[in-house]
Amino acid sequence: MSTWKAPRDYQEEERRRARQLRRRRVRRNRAILGVCCLVVIVFACVQLSGLLKGDGPDAAQSGASSSSASSSASSSAASSSAASSTVSSMPEEESTPAAVVDTGDWRLILVNNNVPLPDGYEVETQVADDNTGKELQAEAAEAYRKMDAAAAAEGVDLMLCSGYRSVDYQTQLFEAEKQENLDKGCSEQEAYDLAKTVVAVPGRSEHNSGLAADIVTPSHQVLDSDFENTDAFAWLSQHAAEYGFILRYPKDKQAITGIIYEPWHYRYVGPENAAAIAQSGLCLEEVHGYAEQAGQ
Ligand SMILES: [Zn+2]
Repeated sequence: MSTWKAPRDYQEEERRRARQLRRRRVRRNRAILGVCCLVVIVFACVQLSGLLKGDGPDAAQSGASSSSASSSASSSAASSSAASSTVSSMPEEESTPAAVVDTGDWRLILVNNNVPLPDGYEVETQVADDNTGKELQAEAAEAYRKMDAAAAAEGVDLMLCSGYRSVDYQTQLFEAEKQENLDKGCSEQEAYDLAKTVVAVPGRSEHNSGLAADIVTPSHQVLDSDFENTDAFAWLSQHAAEYGFILRYPKDKQAITGIIYEPWHYRYVGPENAAAIAQSGLCLEEVHGYAEQAGQ
């Protein structure tokens, strides 16, 4: 019987020692873990206080680029920032949030169905395309000639098929269209409303400003959406902004501009403005703070 006890006590002793060792190990591990946690917390606090101070070029840059990336998505935020904006030089490292332009710049004048040309608007024009004889406002004409030459140097043929139209000429176009409708038996109001869908109301066409250019190419002279499949359109999409022209009625802005997608209709705004607007992804109405057109 006694031969049984000794090994049992021995085993019990062994187990106790093992338990003690385990407990000690657990305590030690807990202590190490605690110290580690403390180090992590202190490190995090230091990092956080550094971030809150907002120093360091990386923080500034990532902030700027993320805001520009989200600017096209949140047009309301973008347009509100555009309202209190100033002229920007071409941004390089620090990207411009939204369209940072001076909306008081005469080249950014807004003309549409709801916003007529200001009374007494005067414009000095020049022939911009010798082949078609079409004119643009003087500065826009010069920019167009440079753009035309640059495209030609790369084997792309641009053709200005419509530029400046005087309000008088616009009136003739409009009255002719309206008369056609009257001849078809429309009432005065119907004839007017129908004409409006085809020809802009005099004084409310961007072409009256001298800053709008309908650009096509000899192989595709029709003003339709198929123009977007031409080399000329591809070239313009890449380079028009460098010469100060923006695509005025983009496909995804029809609800805001109130005008169908017109891949041929470009608007001169000046190179700095064109760069800022192109980067912002806004249309001209949004640049001026209009979220939506009444769509007349
Ligand atoms: Zn046009």
